[in-house]
Amino acid sequence: MRNLAEEIKKTEAVKEAKKEPKEDFEKVHIFEAWCKRCNICIAFCPTGALVADKDGLPVLIPDKCTQCRLCELRCPDFAITVRPKEAKEEKS
Ligand code: SF4
Ligand code: SF4
Repeated sequence: MRNLAEEIKKTEAVKEAKKEPKEDFEKVHIFEAWCKRCNICIAFCPTGALVADKDGLPVLIPDKCTQCRLCELRCPDFAITVRPKEAKEEKS
């Protein structure tokens, strides 16, 4: 009985851990540790989908993002990754 409770707890924890990066990687993923807050990606984003937070870290406005990948191409630190558009379209 005790083991079952432990198992359930573990399963819930794994579910939570898996959920987070998935949602985060919806369109654009920013690797905070690699980002030097230069804001080049924000300057090059043609739709204004990236804004800087109070620390200069880019934050995505998902509705404005067209997944054009310009931010990814312009980032000098490989700190931003855009999910390929096709992958999402195929899914739906
Ligand atoms: S261009 Fe790269 S390093 Fe510069 S703010 Fe954007 S994600 Fe960070
Ligand atoms: S993929 Fe394109 S539209 Fe989306 S945040 Fe990057 S530059 Fe902006």
